[in-house]
Amino acid sequence: MRTSIDVHISEVGPRDGLQSVSATMPTADKCRWIDALAAAGLREIEVGSFVPAKLLPQMADVAAVVRHALTLPGLRVMALVPNRRGAEAALTAGVHKLTLPVSASEAHSLANVRKTSAQMVEELRSVVALRNEVAPGVPVEVGLSTAFGCTLQGAVAEDDVIRLALACVEVGVDEVGLSDTTGMAHPAQVRRLFTRLRAALGEHAGAAHMHNTRGLGLANCLAAYDVGVRSFDSSLGGLGGCPYAPGASGNVVTEDLVFMFEAMGVSTGIDLQQLFAAREPLKAGLPGEPVYGMTPEAGLPRGWLA
Ligand code: ZN
Repeated sequence: MRTSIDVHISEVGPRDGLQSVSATMPTADKCRWIDALAAAGLREIEVGSFVPAKLLPQMADVAAVVRHALTLPGLRVMALVPNRRGAEAALTAGVHKLTLPVSASEAHSLANVRKTSAQMVEELRSVVALRNEVAPGVPVEVGLSTAFGCTLQGAVAEDDVIRLALACVEVGVDEVGLSDTTGMAHPAQVRRLFTRLRAALGEHAGAAHMHNTRGLGLANCLAAYDVGVRSFDSSLGGLGGCPYAPGASGNVVTEDLVFMFEAMGVSTGIDLQQLFAAREPLKAGLPGEPVYGMTPEAGLPRGWLA
């Protein structure tokens, strides 16, 4: 296998995926799934979210899952936190990276975190201050949710997205990416908005987090790649959605995304056969839950060598 990596793929299934299904995957199955993902070559995994268990019982064991993931060599263990309180718990647990959701749509922001976007920026300031004090080496990432449209609010102005991204960087966030939480993005929009984001934020411009709700997930990732984006979020088996965005479904399927890039000669550092094998612990831990992906169904083409 080649050693250099051209694109960075961050697996979000254990967080984005598991929080959007009603069943709770047992802790042992989560750990087996994360082991299999790391064995396939994923170097960054969002393993859970530090939110009150009464809101998301699927994440009640997040500290134990983090503890396990930290034993895997070379893996960057990431967790989602909605606020300073969550960040305290995540940093205490020893995560390597924090990610916070900030909604570009006010309606989604109020539904998701019960704060306005401006209040979330103040929360970010507080999280960055905490990070600086207790864990200065831990990057703080923001994913701007509903950056391409919102099922509650409708259209989201591109100027608002860029203004909010700049506000996040001003309070000390390391990376700001764009999330198509509701699966409304199309490739022309993705090209335009990521071009603007990269021009405005420079090295602070972050990942593309695309959903496959309307079948455009891969097309949108390719559009982002074409304008220079090199970090992508995806989910094994396409698990995922957002409990507070009606109609949100399916993240981009990691297996299909890796296949697309590898077929193009763009190295991901991920072994596809081992990635397919990582579907087994996912299915075992969530019996009956639909698991998506065209590439694992079709198999690899004859003569595939990557
Ligand atoms: Zn997602």
